[in-house]
Amino acid sequence: MSAIYNFCAGPAMLPQAVMQKAQQELIDWNGLGVSVMEISHRSKEFIALTEQAEITLRQLMNIPKNYHVLFMHGGGRAQFSNVVNNFLGDNGRALYLVSGQWSSAAVSEAIKLVGESQIDSLDIVEKVNGLNQVNLPDLHAIDKDYRYVHYCSNETVDGIEIFEELDSPWPVVADLSSTIMSHEIDVSKYGLIYAGAQKNIGPSGLSIVIVRDDMLKLPTLAQSSVMDYRVAVEHGSMFNTPPTFAWYLASEVFAWLAANGGVSAMAEVNQQKAALLYSCIDANPFYKNGVAPQNRSRMNVTFQLVDESLDAEFLKQAEQAGLVALKGHRIVGGMRASIYNAMPIEGVQKLVNFMEQFAAQHA
Ligand SMILES: *Cc1c(COP(=O)(O)O)cnc(C)c1O
Repeated sequence: MSAIYNFCAGPAMLPQAVMQKAQQELIDWNGLGVSVMEISHRSKEFIALTEQAEITLRQLMNIPKNYHVLFMHGGGRAQFSNVVNNFLGDNGRALYLVSGQWSSAAVSEAIKLVGESQIDSLDIVEKVNGLNQVNLPDLHAIDKDYRYVHYCSNETVDGIEIFEELDSPWPVVADLSSTIMSHEIDVSKYGLIYAGAQKNIGPSGLSIVIVRDDMLKLPTLAQSSVMDYRVAVEHGSMFNTPPTFAWYLASEVFAWLAANGGVSAMAEVNQQKAALLYSCIDANPFYKNGVAPQNRSRMNVTFQLVDESLDAEFLKQAEQAGLVALKGHRIVGGMRASIYNAMPIEGVQKLVNFMEQFAAQHA
């Protein structure tokens, strides 16, 4: 059987070495004779796992001491409401930068909770020569007092990525669900970072939150204790039973990243993978991509067949070749190849070969 390469946007493929290790120790973890899924989250073995996970994550991302690392429930979207409930109180205002589907969904959730009077949003994507391009506004020129500015560094659905770090007078709250640890960032530039785990970290349902100490002094709204950042800090992310198996897998992914050169090594390969795919799209008039070169996502490569009537045939033949989950998000259509850290460059090369062949066949 030849290898299957899974380009799903999320839940996405996990490193094969991690999956094999998890398989081996599924019913007997750490010599305990039971699964890591079956032990108390308060057992010394599990606590040791969480401590190691945090140490490794802190090393991988170079997280400063004045930041807390939380492992929470609810994936990416839970944080859309958590940041509002934890930071805005009944009169704080926030600015949202909108660059695509996910940042726009974050605005809707915020407005639902506190109303439009507390939420401002700015559309930062423009069409320039027919291509979607991000234009970051000069935030220092905005004469308003915001508790935070929220943005999404990589729009997983639209294939739009923002590579610059925001220069902001207010704390930056960033949705890094689909870019976390895909390249190096300076954590000290952020008030809070969050990410649903299912793209670059582990199974769905888990969210990673990295929050600067002083953010926890902002006025809160009444909210569920499970979603309260202060409660999570106080209880070591164990106010209630955490998603222990997801936490375990995340810790294995962190260890895998560390053993494979860390984030800078990932970034290098990620750049090569994306370059391979975009050059194939650009070199071939059979395919197109609607994102300005400086904002082309390195994680989610969106592309279209110029002749859309061949979409179904493309997907069918790709699947036969072992290249699965290439269909674009239902909202935007077309194709999308998600190439997170776990996708080896061989998978991308195989996709490029297939795309060239398919184009030649149908030219
Ligand atoms: C996937 C994703 C989300 C949503 O994550 P869920 O875990 O499904 O809530 C939010 N933001 C971004 C950028 C994503 O890629």
